[in-house]
Amino acid sequence: LVQGLEQLRDVPCVTPDGHRMPLLVNTGLLADVARSLDRGAEGVGLYRTEVPFMIQDRFPSEKEQQATYREQLEAFHPLPVTMRTLDIGGDKALTYFPIKEDNPFLGWRGIRVTLDHPEIFLVQTRAMLKASQGLNNLRIMLPMISSPFEVEEAQHLIHRAYSEVLDEGVDVPMPPVGVMIEVPAAVYQARELIQLVDFLSVGTNDLTQYLLAVDRNNPRVADLYHSMHPAVLQALTLVAAACREAGKPMSVCGEMAGDPAAAVLLMAMGCDVLSMNATNLPRVKWLLRQITLSDAKALLDEVVELDNPHLVQATLHLALRNMG
Ligand code: PEP
Ligand code: MG
Repeated sequence: LVQGLEQLRDVPCVTPDGHRMPLLVNTGLLADVARSLDRGAEGVGLYRTEVPFMIQDRFPSEKEQQATYREQLEAFHPLPVTMRTLDIGGDKALTYFPIKEDNPFLGWRGIRVTLDHPEIFLVQTRAMLKASQGLNNLRIMLPMISSPFEVEEAQHLIHRAYSEVLDEGVDVPMPPVGVMIEVPAAVYQARELIQLVDFLSVGTNDLTQYLLAVDRNNPRVADLYHSMHPAVLQALTLVAAACREAGKPMSVCGEMAGDPAAAVLLMAMGCDVLSMNATNLPRVKWLLRQITLSDAKALLDEVVELDNPHLVQATLHLALRNMG
């Protein structure tokens, strides 16, 4: 089977009835690049910029960041690389920037930190823009957004960074900007949010945690953590509808996108791009190449009626097995 999956590298992810689904990867380190390209990734849907920050003992300088980002952008060029601005706090700590809180997942994390420290955000976005010179495959994505106001503030800073790099003589186009949907509030404001940006990308890891009030890292409640919970599926459906109405793309970049059975549901909802760990990409491609979009939609109609995640999972697996 592994050999079979390897041969999938150069074939497109297209269903038997001709529906095309781009499969992108989530990266963090340069080491992720080779295995991603090996598995036929069509770009990066989530580059976790905090990863290079986590392996340092101080904030990387603008020049250092620029070099790191350039490596990612060059490696995938001309394919798109979606760089998420620094997402620290919660479970991701920097030794040189400690955050002590009783409730870190409800605290100072992601965009909240960088809007309070615009100097960190400006250095990072300038580094991204400079790194993209001559390549133009950069996209910027904002983590942990819970209100349109934060997007406006972040965009204001991105525009400032942009005019600063232009002033330095760097000639780059303004990259597309997107928002991650990982806080329940953002699901209900997806219509407003998509008006402000070019794309939405659902982070199902955090969205599941916050919708179900289940810590994503706590083994004691791990049984309750389920991305196929009907509430998560309904949330995804709302986001997909908002993107469809706006005529802008929706992607999913949480672990859910790398689960082949879940990927079938996401495709059926109208999700335009899936981004996942490179390890899972061949299996997702294999399954999507077996199932028609219309069968996937029928399956989605069936499982959204179910009232618990275990039933969703079991029904899906049974149906997929019956399809061969
Ligand atoms: C997510 O929350 O689903 C996500 C992709 O971001 P991270 O796992 O880095 O929090
Ligand atoms: Mg997240």
